[in-house]
Amino acid sequence: MERLKRKLARFMQGRYGVDQLYVAMLILYFILLALNQRINNPYFGLLLWLLIVVAIYRVFSKNVSKRYAENQKFLKFWRRIKTKLRLAVKRLADIRTHRYRKCPNCQTVLRLPRKRGVHQTKCPRCTKRFQVKVRF
Ligand SMILES: [Zn+2]
Repeated sequence: MERLKRKLARFMQGRYGVDQLYVAMLILYFILLALNQRINNPYFGLLLWLLIVVAIYRVFSKNVSKRYAENQKFLKFWRRIKTKLRLAVKRLADIRTHRYRKCPNCQTVLRLPRKRGVHQTKCPRCTKRFQVKVRF
């Protein structure tokens, strides 16, 4: 067992290893695999193979800086999705009492009380005034 561990450690030396993108690809792989059980498309199956091959290739790759950059790109993308999802959940939770509107000047999303009609509001971030329409 010790010898095997040492061998594995030597083999992995200088190789990239596992990262968040790898985990995401693996999760995506299993989701798509479950989906493929239903549609059973050969091209889709090929795509699945490609996904797992690329995921494993990345782990054993020696081009560490390139793999690292890929992972950073993925993390940036994932953070954007997470922010959007969190906002969507908040919007839904507040649907009876508040409305969310984007400031046309700085793009900040404002949480405004739900008052029907057209109102003037001031963005707390950039202090620009703009009109808000709340229909329902
Ligand atoms: Zn603003």
